[in-house]
Amino acid sequence: MERELPLFEPSIILCIAAHPDDLEFGTSGSVAKWVAEGAVVHYLVCTDGSKGSDDPNLTSGELIKLRHVEQQAAADILGVTSVTFLDHEDGLTEANTALKRDITAVIRRLKPDTVVMQDPLFMYSAEFGMINHNDHRKVAESAMDAVYPLARDHLSFPELMGQGLEPHKVKEILMMSFEKATFYVDISTTFETKMKALAAHESQVDIETVRPWLEPTSKSLGKLAGYDRAEGFIRLSMRL
Ligand SMILES: [Zn+2]
Repeated sequence: MERELPLFEPSIILCIAAHPDDLEFGTSGSVAKWVAEGAVVHYLVCTDGSKGSDDPNLTSGELIKLRHVEQQAAADILGVTSVTFLDHEDGLTEANTALKRDITAVIRRLKPDTVVMQDPLFMYSAEFGMINHNDHRKVAESAMDAVYPLARDHLSFPELMGQGLEPHKVKEILMMSFEKATFYVDISTTFETKMKALAAHESQVDIETVRPWLEPTSKSLGKLAGYDRAEGFIRLSMRL
C-alpha cells in the first residue's frame, strides 16, 4: 500500500557526507533552493579528504587544509550556515563507534528536522559502470545509525548528555540518489549556483569535465518529476 507522506517542509537541515565535494555533487542545487526558501542548512564532512590528489608536491597536511578552505568556500556560495569537519582519515572509513558518536554529537547539537546523506546500500552501478566509494557507504551507514537510534536515545553515549547534548529526533532522511530516487527537488533556478559551488573545489573538480555529465543527469532526473532540472533522493519520512 502506498503511504501518504507529509509535505516536505524542512526548517533545519543537516547534510552529512564523507568527502569535501560530495555534497556539492549530490545536493547543492537543493541546498541553494532550501536556503532561498528560508531553511537553515548545516554541513558535516566526515573525512579529511587527505588521499585524493595526484600532486606529488602536496603533503597530506597541506591537502587537508586546502580541502577545508575549498569546502567552506563552496558552502559560502550556497548560503550554508555552518560546516563541521570531523577529519576522520580519508579512504578507509569504518562504520565504527567513534564515527557514530561524532555524528550523533553533531545531530544533537544542531537538532535538524531533516538529514541529507549518501545511500548506505548503494555499492555499485552496472548502468553507470562505477563502484561507490567505501567512505560514502560507511559514513552513510554511520549517519543512519546516528539518526536512529543513537541520537534519539538518552542511554546511547551517556557521556554526550554530560556535554549538554540532549536526545534529538530527526523526522526526515533524504539519501542522495540518481538511480533509485523517490523524491526530486527542482533545481532549475539553482543549477548554475551548484556549478559555482563545485568549481570552488579547485583542487579536485574540473568544472569543464563534470558539466557535460551533470547537465544531462540533472535534466533526466528533472524529466521524471516534471522539472527542467532536478536532484534526486530516496526519501525516508519517519513515522515513529
Ligand atoms: Zn566522495
